[in-house]
Amino acid sequence: MSIYDNIISTIQQSSYKLTPQRETIVKILVENESEHLSAEELYFILKGINPEIGLATVYRTLDIFYDLKILEKITFGNGISKYHLRQKLDNGTHHHLICTKCHNITTISNVIFNKLIQYVNNEYNFEVQDDTIAIYGTCKNCMNEENI
Ligand SMILES: [Zn+2]
Ligand SMILES: [Zn+2]
Repeated sequence: MSIYDNIISTIQQSSYKLTPQRETIVKILVENESEHLSAEELYFILKGINPEIGLATVYRTLDIFYDLKILEKITFGNGISKYHLRQKLDNGTHHHLICTKCHNITTISNVIFNKLIQYVNNEYNFEVQDDTIAIYGTCKNCMNEENI
């Protein structure tokens, strides 16, 4: 089953309706599978496909998809969130390095983080919520700019 079909069937099996708007948003998310999109960025892409869908619908749909665990959400301190598909083509999760200056997101391999999660599990008997680990800081580009 493709990721698209998989998401569609997740929605169909939920208490939410599969509307044409939601189908279109799923399509965009799958096509931009490697990106981390904010609601505004997604809305911008959407406008080129279906100008009738409003930003409020995008926000609501993203909330629903997050609720259904279709999306992973990365929240910045200023209230902006970026989303991407939880289910990656390679089937593995990744973790995020988040630049607090330019909001650029770098994805890193899960190997070290999985060890950390395992350690927290074992030592503290604490179950880590998946995909909540991120490192906030300053990216290479922003550091270079500071040094100019
Ligand atoms: Zn991600
Ligand atoms: Zn940056």
